[in-house]
Amino acid sequence: MSNLQDAMLYINGEIRPSSDNAYYDNIGPWTGEVVGRAADATAADVQQAIDSARHAFDHTDWSSQHEQRHELMKKYVKALWDKRALLVDISRFEAGAAMGAAARAHIDGALNGADDLLKCFEQVTWQEDRGVKNENGFDTKRLVTHEAVGVVGAITPWNVPLYVNIGKVVAALLAGCTVILKPAPDTPLMGSVMGEIAQQVGLPPGVFNVVTSSDPAMAGEMLTKDPAVDLISFTGSTAVGKLIMQNGAPSLKRVFLELGGKSAFVVLDDAPNFAQTVMGSMVVFHAGQGCAYPTRLLVPKSRYDEAVKALEMAYAGFDSKWGLQDEPSCIMGPLISKKQLDRVASYTDIGKQDGARLLAGGKVRSDKGNGFFFEPTCFVDCTNDMRIAQEEIFGPVLVVIPYEDDEDAIRVANESVYGLGGAIFGSTERALEMAKKIRTGSMSVNGGTSITGDLPFGGYKQSGIGREWGLEGIEEFLETKAIGIRAS
Ligand code: NAD
Repeated sequence: MSNLQDAMLYINGEIRPSSDNAYYDNIGPWTGEVVGRAADATAADVQQAIDSARHAFDHTDWSSQHEQRHELMKKYVKALWDKRALLVDISRFEAGAAMGAAARAHIDGALNGADDLLKCFEQVTWQEDRGVKNENGFDTKRLVTHEAVGVVGAITPWNVPLYVNIGKVVAALLAGCTVILKPAPDTPLMGSVMGEIAQQVGLPPGVFNVVTSSDPAMAGEMLTKDPAVDLISFTGSTAVGKLIMQNGAPSLKRVFLELGGKSAFVVLDDAPNFAQTVMGSMVVFHAGQGCAYPTRLLVPKSRYDEAVKALEMAYAGFDSKWGLQDEPSCIMGPLISKKQLDRVASYTDIGKQDGARLLAGGKVRSDKGNGFFFEPTCFVDCTNDMRIAQEEIFGPVLVVIPYEDDEDAIRVANESVYGLGGAIFGSTERALEMAKKIRTGSMSVNGGTSITGDLPFGGYKQSGIGREWGLEGIEEFLETKAIGIRAS
C-alpha cells in the first residue's frame, strides 16, 4: 500500500507544519488504512493565511501585471503537468480513484482544464472604451475597467479534488486575485501539493496559500466570516452552501457556489442503439461520486421493459469489473470514507420503503477489500417523488423512472430542487429542443461533451450560483468599474 508524503500547510510562501505541530491521519479509501498524514491547521494558521493573502493583494503588483502573471501561471500549469505521475498516485490512494479513472479523468481532465483557462485568459477584456457622452452640458470620456475582486477563499470537496481545486485556484490567480485554498479533510494532499508546486515555480509569497484541517468547518467558517476575504468560491453540498451564504451575509461576501445535483439521463423512443444507450446510463464511474452525474434514468413507457432487460444484463456483467485496484481498465473503486459508505448504504432501505424495486446491488461489499466498497445499484419502477429520486445520494446508485411522452420527460427532469447537468439521447433536433427546456447549467445531447475547461459550468436552482471554468469562470473573480473623464 502506498505511503503518501505528508500534506503540509503552504502559507506566505512557506511550506510548514501547523503552529502546534499537530497532524491527522489521511485514510485510504481502498484499504481503510492510514496512507499518510496531514498538517492540522490551527485558527492562528488560518488567520496567517488570510493576512498573507490580504497583504499580497494590497501591497504587491500581482493584480495589475497581467502579462507577467499569465507567464508565471503558464509555468505553474506546466509544473503541474510535470508532476502528473505524483498527482495520479494521490488521486488513486487518497481520493480512491480507480486506475481507469485516475489518469484520464481525474488528472488529465483537470490539467487540460488548466490549459484551457490559460487560453481563456487571453479573451479577458481588462478595459473597454465606452465612448464620449454629453451629459450635464459637458463631454465625458467613459471607460469600463475590470479588476480582480481581491482575496478569495476557495473551499473544495473530496470527489475530484484536483479538478475542483484547479477550477478555482488557477482561474482566481489568473484574474489577479490572491487565494487561500481549503481542501476537504479527506483529500488534503491534493491541495497541499499544489502549494508545494507553487513554491517551486516561484509564485510570490502570499499570492497562494493552502490550509489543511481535520475539522471540516473551522477553517472554512473563518474564511467565510472574515471581512478581509472578498469572495468565497465553494464547491460542496447544498446544505453547507446555504450555511456559507448565511455566514457570509454580515460582510456581504460575494459567494459563488457549486453544489449538488440529481441530473436526468433522458432516453427518447427514437434514440439510436436504444439498449446500448440505456446500458450507458449505469452510475459506476468513480463510484458515482460526481456532482453532475445523471443519476435518474428517464425512459419512455413504450420501451420500458426493453430498458429494464438491458440494465439487468449490464449490471450482471459488471460485477467482476469493479473494485480492482491494480487493473488499468477499472473505472470504479470504493467510496471516499466510512461515513459516505454508511450514508449511501442507508438508501437501500429508503428505496425499498419508497416502493422501488431493487434490480441490482444495494449492499456493502467487504469481499472486495477492507475499504469502503458499495456495489453498483439500480432501482427500477421508481416515481420521481421518491426520496431516492429527489435526494443526492453521491454513490453508485441509478434510479429508473418511466415517462409518458416528451412533455412528461421534461416535467420529470425539471421536478427537482437541483439543476446541474443532464444528458438526452434521441434524434438530434428533437433532443436539442428538449435539452433547451431542461433547467440545468449543462446538457449533453447524444453523448456530446458539455463539461470541459473552456465551457462555463454551474447550476440552476439549488445546484448553485455563478459559473466556473471558461472565460466566465475567470470573470467570476473580477469586479467592474465605470470611470468618467471630463473631456470638455
Ligand atoms: P461538504 O459540503 O460536506 O464539504 C465541502 C467543503 O466544505 C469541504 O472542504 C468541507 O470541509 C467544507 N465545509 C464543511 N462545513 C463547512 C462550513 N460550515 N463552512 C465552510 N466550509 C465548510 O461536501 P463534500 O461531502 O466534501 O462533497 C460532496 C458534495 O459536493 C456533494 O453534494 C456534491 O454534489 C458536491 N460537489 C459539487 C460539485 C459542483 O461543481 N457542483 C463538484 C463536486 C462536488
